[in-house]
Amino acid sequence: MNAPSSMTPEAKAFRCTGCGACCSEFWINVSDADVRRICADTGLGVMEVVEFASPATVEGDVEEEGWVPFGPDPADSGLMTLKTDPETSTCRFLQDSLCTIYESRPMACRLYPWDRDYPTYDSSRIGLEILTEECPYENDGDEGVDALDELFDQDDREGDAYEARIETWRRLGAPDDPVLFLRFLRFPLNGSVKATEDDAITSDAGRGIPTAAS
Ligand code: SF4
Ligand code: SF4
Repeated sequence: MNAPSSMTPEAKAFRCTGCGACCSEFWINVSDADVRRICADTGLGVMEVVEFASPATVEGDVEEEGWVPFGPDPADSGLMTLKTDPETSTCRFLQDSLCTIYESRPMACRLYPWDRDYPTYDSSRIGLEILTEECPYENDGDEGVDALDELFDQDDREGDAYEARIETWRRLGAPDDPVLFLRFLRFPLNGSVKATEDDAITSDAGRGIPTAAS
């Protein structure tokens, strides 16, 4: 558990207006824990949920977290992301500007546009990190720092666990087959996926655009 955070005033007053711009401008990278939650919640198979983006497509740095080696050439690395709709190039779960997997949306979605930094050794701070110019947020929100802290802690735990699995995959020789990687992560290619107790979201904080049914 990290030191309790403070929040910048802008971050505390942030309110998402639900425009959906951040669901249509980025590749949403996911961990295996994110994918288990989505598959368990929707009944979809892993092949219907994720795809792998190449460094050339997303102009990514393969040295950063989340990149999976597929063979010896770093250019063949892949970033596990939510599938995009080929017609609209938006997240496949965005419909009529609403999130259809609100309850199981990934950590990247819950935590956008916040970021936690460490201005001193024993203090942390949550601030806004707006990555899209089209984020028409309002300043009348009331975000709870404790709830967001919990989410950041869980995101750290799940990110570290996923990185450790990627490292094992690398040590095993990093075959150039993303489907094999999904099997290595223990996802059945045909069949349902169960979330584990550890996958449970411990906080209902975080941004999102629920559908009316959520
Ligand atoms: S909030 Fe929902 S619709 Fe938007 S990118 Fe995330 S999963 Fe997709
Ligand atoms: S975070 Fe910003 S860009 Fe994303 S849906 Fe909310 S207002 Fe729109």
